[in-house]
Amino acid sequence: MSVNLTFHGAAGCVTGFCARLQTDKATVLIDCGMFQGSKTLKALNYNDFPFEAGAVDAVLLTHSHIDHSGLLPKLMRAGFTGPIHATAGTRDLCAVMLADAGGIQESEVRHLNYRNEQRGRAPVEPIYTARDAKRVMRQFSKVRLGEEVAIAPGIRAVYWEAGHIVGSSSIEVIVDTEEGPMRLLFSGDLGAGGRAYSPDPRSPSGVDHLIIESTYGDRDRMALSDAERRILLAKELNDAHDRGGPVLIPAFAVERSQELLADILSLMDDGQVPRGEVFLDSPLAIEATEVFLRRGWNRDTETNPFQDLRAGERLKYMRSTAQSDALERLRGWHIVMAASGMCDAGRVRKHLKRLLWQRDATVLLSGYQAAGTLGRILQGGATQVSIQGEPIQVRAHIRSLDCYSAHADAGGLVAWAKAREPIGGQVFLLHGEPSARVALRDRLTKAGFASGRIACPEMDDRFVLTRAQATPASRAASRIEPTAVAAPDWHNARASLLLELDERLRAAPGDAARERLLAALRADLEDAGSSRSAAPARSLEHSS
Ligand SMILES: [Zn+2]
Repeated sequence: MSVNLTFHGAAGCVTGFCARLQTDKATVLIDCGMFQGSKTLKALNYNDFPFEAGAVDAVLLTHSHIDHSGLLPKLMRAGFTGPIHATAGTRDLCAVMLADAGGIQESEVRHLNYRNEQRGRAPVEPIYTARDAKRVMRQFSKVRLGEEVAIAPGIRAVYWEAGHIVGSSSIEVIVDTEEGPMRLLFSGDLGAGGRAYSPDPRSPSGVDHLIIESTYGDRDRMALSDAERRILLAKELNDAHDRGGPVLIPAFAVERSQELLADILSLMDDGQVPRGEVFLDSPLAIEATEVFLRRGWNRDTETNPFQDLRAGERLKYMRSTAQSDALERLRGWHIVMAASGMCDAGRVRKHLKRLLWQRDATVLLSGYQAAGTLGRILQGGATQVSIQGEPIQVRAHIRSLDCYSAHADAGGLVAWAKAREPIGGQVFLLHGEPSARVALRDRLTKAGFASGRIACPEMDDRFVLTRAQATPASRAASRIEPTAVAAPDWHNARASLLLELDERLRAAPGDAARERLLAALRADLEDAGSSRSAAPARSLEHSS
């Protein structure tokens, strides 16, 4: 009997989590997430799965975030017919989020195919449609925390509170082997604990192998209390109010938006922030908020901390595009929250075009900005950015408020891992950029974990497991170079080069100088062309 564990995503980056556990009798996936971030990474969403979807018996889903659930409809389209085990909260949020993701695929592909047609290129298909997303919901099977569920021959699972977002869980997978039951614990994404908005994470101790996320493995500053967080938020909002303009909060539709909104409303009620209109301009965040009203019960505090988020006088839901477009005419102090949180999709781009060049406006980034996203570029202090091909000057104040992450920080991750001891086998670090992962490895070593027992798998790495050991198997051809996983890619480099060129041309003292500059560039291009090495340019025509 051999037990194999392969990591098909979130290996060297924070998105696309997907682990495949294979025994002689069964194959299960833990999550089936979508890749987000650079175009190189996102292109993986269009490629075939590196395994046979029809051979997967079941999916164990930790939570609804798209980087964990986003390729489930694609898995179904590729032939997966088994159950998807998830909590009720995860299921209800997936119904909202996968349909939204399908809608985004359809509209992105529509735009792309329009351009492809203009350029004489073949049309591409969406990864999946909103209809596929609706269809895959029939495969969901509800699990309760703490109850053992039979998953497939020789495989059982128990779901545990992860304290990350509504419905989120860590998953203990129990595999029957000749050595007795092998216990693997997948952390999923972990919450910070000690918050009114979500219960504390809890999982069993004494496992054979631990698979833990490392998103914030290099950061400590998020260990703030609810009250401390609110003070920081109040300061940002008061500063923005003093500037006289609106605040745009790029929204992470699930959890962070609802926590921020609940805090904004309570700060306004308490008179700590000037009252003003608050607009939730994201159909997805609105629907997610409705799930939170239904499923947000915190068993630790016996309340639903989101109960004030019904639409009304203070909080306005902008469901239609027409309502959203009407915000264009608003001036002065108001708050707009629009998805997406990293600024690469959704209505937020429209608001950024409208507000980025205004000196009195404030853009408040509310969480992790992946390498290569517009949010990261703004955070990096860019003075000009390109949005949907349009160059936009950045004059607005770009602020970051990282304490609203629903993730545990480095201290929280180490404490959670320590509480799982004794761990007989390996600790696998996933779901973090390389620097965060290395930092967490060092922290864990200092906390007493032997460095030889900590593994940092790269994309598509496979391990053969016994209860005490994880042996790396020879690596199959990986779909992506490890160095390309976390880096900004050539699309980012191209966009910034074009912006710089425009800037130089504008700044040149006259047309003659502009022509000289262009002639020099053309000559350099010729040179680069004739001395071109054997490395071919990678073609990613179907990435948007
Ligand atoms: Zn998550």
